[in-house]
Amino acid sequence: MKVFVLNCGSSSLKYQLINMKNEKVIAKGLVEKIGENISYLNYKTEANNEIEIEEKISDHNQAIEMVLEILQNKEYGVLENMDEINIVGHRVVHGGEKFSGSVLIDEEVIKALKENIKLAPLHNPANIMGIEVSRKLMPNTPDVGIFDTAFHQSMPKKSYLYAVPYKWYEENGVRRYGFHGTSHKYVSERGAKLLGRDYKDLKIISCHLGNGASITAIEAGKVIDTSMGLTPLDGLVMGTRSGDLDTGIIPYIMKERNMNIEEIDQALNKESGVLGISGVSNDFRDIGEAAEAGNKRAKLALDIFCRRVKKYIGSYAALLGRVDLLIFTAGIGENAINVRKKITSNMDCFGIEIDNNKNNCRGKEIKISSDNSKVDVYVIPTNEELVIAREAKNVVEDHVKNIIKELIG
Ligand code: AMP
Repeated sequence: MKVFVLNCGSSSLKYQLINMKNEKVIAKGLVEKIGENISYLNYKTEANNEIEIEEKISDHNQAIEMVLEILQNKEYGVLENMDEINIVGHRVVHGGEKFSGSVLIDEEVIKALKENIKLAPLHNPANIMGIEVSRKLMPNTPDVGIFDTAFHQSMPKKSYLYAVPYKWYEENGVRRYGFHGTSHKYVSERGAKLLGRDYKDLKIISCHLGNGASITAIEAGKVIDTSMGLTPLDGLVMGTRSGDLDTGIIPYIMKERNMNIEEIDQALNKESGVLGISGVSNDFRDIGEAAEAGNKRAKLALDIFCRRVKKYIGSYAALLGRVDLLIFTAGIGENAINVRKKITSNMDCFGIEIDNNKNNCRGKEIKISSDNSKVDVYVIPTNEELVIAREAKNVVEDHVKNIIKELIG
């Protein structure tokens, strides 16, 4: 069975074709700058065939069509024809309260996704576009939606409600939803496997530290709290997003700087975070270099980022009452040695101690806690595409089983 995983952003798309027999990636790549004068398409196969195309790609329809053509190319393709794709798995950012698990997509689901656009106006329209194009180009192939928010739907009400007028929740859907759910699910399940323990017996804190960053407390396989909220702006300091904020700043600065709500939204989402503090970059490699060269604001940005993660680990340890496993994942979590070191420094009171030699590594699955550490600390590279492919396969298989059950009465 082959699953085609599609992750559509507003001007980009990432794709992977996965063979579910061995869970190996047959081909993968991305298309960037869709709709601009020059777009980039990248394609790489398991056998290391690689293609780079630079030309105008007008929209997602054209981008997906090009990818499907390349996949079937006589010379460097990996498919005889499109029918070899058994399922398409789509990453969908916001499932709202309606979707607590992955779903087979039909007209009803698309309608519900459109109703959720107001909750994720930057992300959901592109995800829906990908689904609609896929349904048009591969009408006989089932599409499955896998939601960033779904894993977090197990959170109790006391975690997800904000202390605002209750009717905001009831009438407008204002609550914590959480994001990066597929990543937190993957690394926490993988972590349990690495420890050789039952997932249901573990208390886990998972830190997804990428350009977008979130942290999740998991107990017995259920999320008990997570740092992102109604939107992915909440919680940790990120590349360009502020994270937690005194909301009183918003009316204050709107008056002071004569800004409107769109400008505030832009500033908090695109001009804040470590970019806003450092003035250097949103990329931790650039910030690290600048800090080493003596740039004080770059150093401050790193300090503030690490301090916020540390604060969350402490508060989640208090909520969990015990921590068995602390996980670092995503671009920064997997690669930024100094960031991991700074976050975990002076945390022996929580039973967290890392071994600096073990921590001196990038991008691989490894235990970095010391022999004395009560908490196991791991770096686990995330694999959201694999979770999407597994979920898509399960949903379709369950659907087929149900049909057979109904047929045989
Ligand atoms: P992601 O959103 O998970 O793709 O993470 C992207 C971010 O990871 C980049 O913006 C960098 O800040 C960070 N990153 C990637 N590689 C490294 C590295 N070698 N050292 C430090 N940070 C890195």
